[in-house]
Amino acid sequence: MSQNSQTSSIVVIGSCSVDFTTFAPRLPMPGETLHGTKFMTSFGGKGANQCVASAKLGGNTYMIARAGDDQWGMKYKEYLKIVGVDVSHFYITPNASTGIAQITVADNGENQIVIVTGANNLLEISDVHTSAELIKNADVLIGQLETPFETTLAAFKLNKGVKLLNAAPGRSDIQKILPYCSILCVNEGEAALVSGMEVTMSNIVEVLTKLLHTGCETVIITLGEKGAVYLSSDQQPIHVPCKSVKPVDTTGAGDAFVGALATFLVERKDLPLHQIIGAACEVASTSVTKEGTQTSYPKKFDAFNKQY
Ligand code: ADP
Repeated sequence: MSQNSQTSSIVVIGSCSVDFTTFAPRLPMPGETLHGTKFMTSFGGKGANQCVASAKLGGNTYMIARAGDDQWGMKYKEYLKIVGVDVSHFYITPNASTGIAQITVADNGENQIVIVTGANNLLEISDVHTSAELIKNADVLIGQLETPFETTLAAFKLNKGVKLLNAAPGRSDIQKILPYCSILCVNEGEAALVSGMEVTMSNIVEVLTKLLHTGCETVIITLGEKGAVYLSSDQQPIHVPCKSVKPVDTTGAGDAFVGALATFLVERKDLPLHQIIGAACEVASTSVTKEGTQTSYPKKFDAFNKQY
């Protein structure tokens, strides 16, 4: 690790939520009570996933988020602290519930999900003002689209470092933030929504070019088992393949990628972007070999033992 990374900060502004997952033989009919076979509680939300992915890799991480003043808000805060995230800007919101997802998974793999965004929706521009110094000086600022858009926009306008937007969940109405992004990172579905174009392997360069013309400096599209492809204004598009693995659970792979990307951007400023992206793919591909989301993210490991 370079000396710089000792003090470099990775600040995530975004969502945290708790997933309540029930496994049942089938999905219940309206009004029906059904016996399930297993129940699991897990910490999620794209913002927190990305922050935890980075913290596990040794990133100096800060989470700016809102949770409710219920037991889950406090539990989430304690847990983030244990993982190594600075939670001094993680706000417990009076009279609000923590964001949750109520998930039912049937034996045939079908699922049913009810989401309550709760306190995530209350992350406001005033929170950006409260955390202004932290946001302004972050070496990498990460945002997503699970918390109010205007709040993320205000934070991106303030930051003087690398602004990394993971435009997820995908939306078509985010044009005004794109000129403030150093890096726009999306999966194929999100790339289609943001660009308004169908995404296939044969037109991916066209999509990258269209996205780059929105004003950001670099566009990365992750491609699942095919790795990632990226385009910067001063380069030709580059495809970075990832290792072939036997996937067990691909949930949150994109978040592992984003968290790792941010970590390596500050940790390995000496390396070219394709190597940084290759290492982020290595982390994300490792995460899909394990069940769970944050629990599947690898701890500090040598992602640079290969040439990408
Ligand atoms: P998202 O999870 O946001 O849909 P992707 O599916 O594109 O994002 O996955 C993000 C990254 O996770 C990929 O670039 C790759 O490194 C890794 N990944 C995802 N699925 C697989 C897979 N089946 N095999 C290997 N790596 C994978």
